[in-house]
Amino acid sequence: MAITEDRSTMQEHAAAIVKGVRSTFDSGRTRDIAWRQRQLAGLVEMLEEHEEAFLDAMAADLGRPRFEGWMADLRVTLRDANELRRNLRSWARDERVRPPWQLLGTRNRIVREPLGAVLVIAPWNYPIHLLVSPLAAALAAGNTAVVKPSEVTPTVSGALARYIPMHVDPEAVAVVEGGVPETQALLTQRFDRIFYTGNGHVGRQIAEAAARHLTPVTLELGGKSPVIVDRDANLDSAARRIVWGKFLNAGQTCVAPDYVLAHESVHDALVDKLASTIRERYGDDPRTSDSFGRIVNERHALRLQGLLAAGGFKAVACGGDVDAGARYVAPTVLAGVDPDAAVMGEEIFGPILPVLPVRDVDEAIAYVNGHDKPLALYVFTGSSRTADHVLRQTSSGGACVNEVVSHVLPAALPFGGVGPSGTGAYHGRWGFEEFSHRKAVMDRPTWLELAMMYAPYTALKERIVRRLF
Ligand code: NAD
Repeated sequence: MAITEDRSTMQEHAAAIVKGVRSTFDSGRTRDIAWRQRQLAGLVEMLEEHEEAFLDAMAADLGRPRFEGWMADLRVTLRDANELRRNLRSWARDERVRPPWQLLGTRNRIVREPLGAVLVIAPWNYPIHLLVSPLAAALAAGNTAVVKPSEVTPTVSGALARYIPMHVDPEAVAVVEGGVPETQALLTQRFDRIFYTGNGHVGRQIAEAAARHLTPVTLELGGKSPVIVDRDANLDSAARRIVWGKFLNAGQTCVAPDYVLAHESVHDALVDKLASTIRERYGDDPRTSDSFGRIVNERHALRLQGLLAAGGFKAVACGGDVDAGARYVAPTVLAGVDPDAAVMGEEIFGPILPVLPVRDVDEAIAYVNGHDKPLALYVFTGSSRTADHVLRQTSSGGACVNEVVSHVLPAALPFGGVGPSGTGAYHGRWGFEEFSHRKAVMDRPTWLELAMMYAPYTALKERIVRRLF
């Protein structure tokens, strides 16, 4: 469904769309576990049946290598949907809890109930995964949904709008294509949760719009995710892993390493290894590599070019070329970067990796703590003590030791930010919980009275109650 008219017509259309999915929710059919299972099966079927079309769409919009598109978008989404399918029945079951002894005889349980009609707003960088995985969690929890793919990846947006209604209950899920005006029209409506993935600037606007209806929000945001490399780290392994996580999707990954704080004694050696690893993986001219993606649009390529042109570093150890018209930015490593460099002032979200020398791990910790809490933090060290020290002295959405990015893979780990990098979490059970309300229910038999709680209050009742509670 596309809404493209002026503001008030857009709002009317948005209202009609929300009314539609809300009335499906009110019909009660989405509470049925078998209905939920069918929707999840439908999403799996959609991803499998239209794999080629989705990979083509990502290649068209993002120059995404098919291997990356399959692994980082389709595969992880299938994993999420299948994990929900496998566990849904047990996660949705009422959870009995023991009463305190004073309330013995009562039956207490937590009932998971769906929230209602939810809104999922997705970005362009993993355009299928970041829309379909939250949608799967919302449907698993028994909600209906309006989903808004990113207009920045229009081919993928079109494919989602075509295929989703073919594979899930079209009265329960509405796909709204469009950009800022269409999203803002949707935001005037009342939802029961808004799940937004994207940048923090828009995240604030989403939170403000949601506050008008007291709608809870999940904000999956970004930020500058640091890598700390200590002097005792295995530098070969660190370079191999950092290069993988940084240059995947040409650096346009929310949990990509944004910059490296390297112990000054290993700074130069690490920079050399990063540069040689890049050459091994993408060749002497990465422009010709089938394994290296493109920047999503010319505007972002020009933004990255501007960060490089602003300087503030000792050397370009590798890369540095930009062809904005071709949306190409070479995998780039900057050595001896100044903390005040432009490249350190914003989330890079592209294939540029600044490396900053630090005196020791505590200087790195102080630097991280002097900035917004990041979505991810990575520490490379041979010492589990140092790793623990870094993890305990810093706060981040998630973290890895001697690894990058992969903490997003196990479905049992919650994925989300903290503070400026986000609020709420999903993946696996965490997604099911995010889209459920946990209702506390007590059931007291009629023969069991707590008579001493009732008025008229007397000194004797008070003495007994003070003893008991
Ligand atoms: P984007 O431009 O595609 O925007 C995301 C969504 O917000 C789109 O659907 C867009 O239509 C909508 N939008 C944009 N401006 C709006 C406005 N003014 N009002 C209402 N809606 C608006 O994507 P982006 O924000 O450039 O995405 C990149 C950012 O997302 C990075 O900061 C990245 O770190 C972050 N990100 C986070 C995660 C995560 O899971 N935490 C995942 C991917 C990306």
